[in-house]
Amino acid sequence: MFVRVAVPVPNLDLLTYAVPADSPVPAVGARVVVPLGARSVTGIVVELSETSGMPEGREAKPFRTLLDTDPFIPSDVVELARWTAEYYAAGPGEAITAVLPPKTRGERADAHRKQRRVTVTAAGLDPAVQVTARQREALDLVAASPDGVTAADLARRGVSPDLLRRLQNGGLVQVREERVDRDPFQVSVLDATPVDAARALTLEQDAALSRMLALFGAGGFRTALLHGVTGSGKTELYLRLSAAVRASGRRVLMLVPEIALTPQVAALFRQAFHERVAIQHSGLSDGERHDQWQRIRRGEVDVVVGTRSAVFAPLRDVGLIIVDEEHDNSYKQEESPRYNGRDVALVRAQRAGALAVLGSATPSMESYYNAMSGRYERIVLTRRILDRPLPAVTVVDMREEYAAEGPDVILSRALRDGIAARVERREQAIVLLNRRGFATAVFCRQCSGTIDCPNCSVSLVVHGEGHARRARCHYCNYSARVPAACPTCKAPYLEQMGFGTERVEAQVRKQCPDARVARLDRDSVRRKGALATLLGRFRAGEIDVLVGTQMIAKGHDFPRVTLVGVVSADVGLGMADFRASERTFQLLTQVAGRAGRGETAGEAVVQTIYPTHYSIQLACRQDYAAFFERELHFRKAMRYPPVVSIINAVVRARTYAAAMDDAAGVVARLREMDPDLKDYRVLGPAPAPLGKLRGEYRVQFLIKGTARRRMRESLVSILAARPELARRTTIDVDPLSVL
Ligand code: ADP
Ligand code: ZN
Repeated sequence: MFVRVAVPVPNLDLLTYAVPADSPVPAVGARVVVPLGARSVTGIVVELSETSGMPEGREAKPFRTLLDTDPFIPSDVVELARWTAEYYAAGPGEAITAVLPPKTRGERADAHRKQRRVTVTAAGLDPAVQVTARQREALDLVAASPDGVTAADLARRGVSPDLLRRLQNGGLVQVREERVDRDPFQVSVLDATPVDAARALTLEQDAALSRMLALFGAGGFRTALLHGVTGSGKTELYLRLSAAVRASGRRVLMLVPEIALTPQVAALFRQAFHERVAIQHSGLSDGERHDQWQRIRRGEVDVVVGTRSAVFAPLRDVGLIIVDEEHDNSYKQEESPRYNGRDVALVRAQRAGALAVLGSATPSMESYYNAMSGRYERIVLTRRILDRPLPAVTVVDMREEYAAEGPDVILSRALRDGIAARVERREQAIVLLNRRGFATAVFCRQCSGTIDCPNCSVSLVVHGEGHARRARCHYCNYSARVPAACPTCKAPYLEQMGFGTERVEAQVRKQCPDARVARLDRDSVRRKGALATLLGRFRAGEIDVLVGTQMIAKGHDFPRVTLVGVVSADVGLGMADFRASERTFQLLTQVAGRAGRGETAGEAVVQTIYPTHYSIQLACRQDYAAFFERELHFRKAMRYPPVVSIINAVVRARTYAAAMDDAAGVVARLREMDPDLKDYRVLGPAPAPLGKLRGEYRVQFLIKGTARRRMRESLVSILAARPELARRTTIDVDPLSVL
């Protein structure tokens, strides 16, 4: 008997080992220790086989140790990982790494904290028992909690260890050692505004819920696209639907883009499902994640809320999978396996016979296309809760503003006045600019050269002011002092160009001196815990104006925000990416949706130099359907998803010529394999838009077509013959961006 094993090592195919004579036959999903060269590694059994399939004259080595008699990873999750590896053209090793629980670096997996729990005994409950007044008080305290009280809690309430020992010796209380799983809940239930469980759904919510319940009740796999405008109360529906699925004896998996950014959703689930929910996010330590993973695996959890990788949670009997904000880019993993958590979720739901619910105010082109063609059922929420109006949007044409106020204007008059009015009225404002840093480039007025990264083909971004000023690469993190003279022509005429969030923050402080201003972007929340603190302060009203990147546009629910300003709505539009308009539309619609969620109506001010661009116009009108039509027209004309599938391949090499040669060779083979263009077309090779990254040159080609499987298999088979080139080639199936 033989087993095929996936080991967490990149670029390795499945490995075959013999089952030793004295070992039981492993189950699919069990862990085995196998010899690999001089090392021993732990892998997962993914297949059993009667034959070794080894070439003539070679024999499969036996594995060393079988670690589990039952599957460690449920077999359906093993199958899901195999599907992911194949579909995304990744090695099975990389896919299995995505499925394994996080390593417990430096901590033993079974190193749980212990805690002493005190419960009252029958003797202790006997009213006739003779005790002192202080002992009586302590007994009452313990008896009041049916599950008992921890010794630490009792100590805090003034019950001394000595008093506790006397009660224990008298047989009045019992003290047990209890294992506590690490569950620090960086997401505290305090993040959630308590929900009135009995509050009535709106008519629209009620209809949507009934429809989803009916789909679930019908049994079997279905996909619903819950298309609800911002603030229409989708979270409430997720909670009620989850409760119903749980009551029917099945389990719930809910994916969210980024828990740290929107802790409220997770907190509401915690509030509703208490210890039957596990919340998996990147803020947890590996040890904490590992404990939660084990609880899920042991069946102690009915609901899992987690980011992308939670799609592989070892949860059994899944009846419902929710993907909240399904359009969000963070569902795509940008390293191998380059999977999209939303799409893997759909495959999992299909195999589990579960209902999949994709929720969004701005569905991805793919999902809406599927809803239009009838593959998904579209369920709509067209109105905000309590019929709160969507924010009124003013578009400011910055070309007019520059003409009136000079070329250095950052905040238009409308935005400046709007912020000042909010500060005065003790309301709050959000100001978005989707670009970090202080200035976007440094350029020389004499030779017009810019200061570029030595490793990447981009110019360096200036961060900080005065002495703290540095130029940094956003791709490889190279950083240097901003020189006084041009490195090329030595002229002392260097000037800063463009601006990012740091400069906007400085500008808001200058123009609204009374405002309490803070900035939210990747630079400002680098420290652990900084993000939660910042969001907490904004929620508590300690900050009036929050300036930030797209991180402030995500599903936040801050009722006191009545103004949203967008500084340069067109930041993403200049990019030569087929999703540029879609992204801009989503970002603007989502950020505007942060305004007016409380009692006071909201307003948005959108600054742009392309006031007539359709993605800006239609986002301002919050007209999703019109945007979809318009954008689909473009995708059809240019043959881009969702009309066709694409695979983006990038070949890396030490020199540009080598990268180009290698890529051209692969492209020629691809064309030979489909000479009549029946299955696909290949575009390129061409230098990638980011032509050099971390010292390597990059050349790219695109495969477009409807024969998705053929496209992938052709490329994989060509690279299989050249392992060295395969390691230098990045394959991105269904890429979010081709930049
Ligand atoms: P979405 O996710 O669709 O943007 P949310 O789920 O955040 O919207 O809901 C917006 C607000 O409306 C939240 O503060 C939520 O508590 C509240 N809400 C939801 N449903 C109801 C309801 N039926 N009655 C009153 N308030 C509701
Ligand atoms: Zn760089």
